[in-house]
Amino acid sequence: AQAKVTEDDPTAKALGYKADGSKVDAAKFKTWAKTNTCANCNFYKSANANEGSCVALGNKLVAAKGWCSAWIKKA
Ligand code: SF4
Repeated sequence: AQAKVTEDDPTAKALGYKADGSKVDAAKFKTWAKTNTCANCNFYKSANANEGSCVALGNKLVAAKGWCSAWIKKA
């Protein structure tokens, strides 16, 4: 099975990744918005309803409702 990224993964940590986007420190990450999630990020490729692989995180699995500071709107 494909590896799931953890919040402690060095790259994930550097990007402020949270598996639950609502836990993002909004004061620290000004680009965060409730409607921005991994599921609608350009780096996301859906694997199932709950998770998908993220190109920015080495194609590891991230949560559909997650977020990190590399978020960019799906083209
Ligand atoms: Fe989620 Fe996009 Fe960040 Fe990957 S780059 S963790 S898909 S917000």
